[in-house]
Amino acid sequence: MSKPTLSVVVPVYNEEEVINESYKRLTKVLEGIGETYELIFVNDGSRDKTLKLALDICANDKRVKLIDFARNFGHQLAITAGMDASTGKAIVVIDADLQDPPEVIPRMVKKWREGYEIVYGKRLKREGESAFKKFTAKVFYRFLDKMTDVDIPVDTGDFRLIDRKVCEALKLVPEHNRYVRGIVSWLGYKSCPVEFERQKRFAGTTKYPLKKMIRFATDAIMSFSYKPLKLATLLGGITVVVSLFLLLFYGIFGQLNPVTSLMILGIFIAGLLFICLGIAGEYIARICDEVRNRPLYLIRRMYNFDSDKD
Ligand code: UDP
Ligand code: MG
Repeated sequence: MSKPTLSVVVPVYNEEEVINESYKRLTKVLEGIGETYELIFVNDGSRDKTLKLALDICANDKRVKLIDFARNFGHQLAITAGMDASTGKAIVVIDADLQDPPEVIPRMVKKWREGYEIVYGKRLKREGESAFKKFTAKVFYRFLDKMTDVDIPVDTGDFRLIDRKVCEALKLVPEHNRYVRGIVSWLGYKSCPVEFERQKRFAGTTKYPLKKMIRFATDAIMSFSYKPLKLATLLGGITVVVSLFLLLFYGIFGQLNPVTSLMILGIFIAGLLFICLGIAGEYIARICDEVRNRPLYLIRRMYNFDSDKD
């Protein structure tokens, strides 16, 4: 089979309630564009009927390909695997739950035809998500922007189109704790936004519980900023100044009870030390991941791919 113009990568994790609808909507939009395409589902270790449903789709439509992971490796690695296996001249990454409307893809393709190498979806509004999710997302994107030197567009998820060049460049960045949209921004290239309103999830619940959100945010910050380490130094500096001040005050006026004051100071400094250790530890853990150099993801089987790796 010759290489298609478009590759669309869809990560799926326990999406039995949405995968069929997602396939239908995407197919309708992609057929409407009139370019050749491949649709790549990446099954990220789902424990429900997602794999079976995806296999049924693959059996009836050879334009649909499937990568089945050995276990759950996470959203970011699922999209990485999809991009690695893609052969299109442009690659679109989209969530399965239809929160990113497939109908935006033709606009992205148009921009790409105009010469943009990265066309990212910018969320103007988020429908049907909890106030907590909206608030944390808003704070996170702005905080990340302050923390990093890389210009990562705010309110932008992984819903985007990238040119083959960008996809090949991404392969040169084999980082483990990946924040894909950050890496894409770091690469450079000519980019532009396409604005859209984020919809309500078609069905099912979010696969990003608070724990995964925190991990995701930490990866994003630690991958693109050393400011937390500088914060540790700053905290140390502040503590030294405060303790010196206290000593001076105590020396001159001699009013504080020496035992209590030393105790408070001791606890305060110990707390700061632990914060600093924790921050340094987070970076060290990531160095460990890189040094171990384990594969980013493991594939059980691939379906409908030319080389028939199944
Ligand atoms: N996803 C995945 N692996 C995971 C978590 C999520 O492949 O470990 C997929 C999920 O199936 C969906 C996309 O990543 O297609 C985004 O997840 P979700 O919609 O749950 O996140 P939210 O939109 O709530 O941030
Ligand atoms: Mg979603």
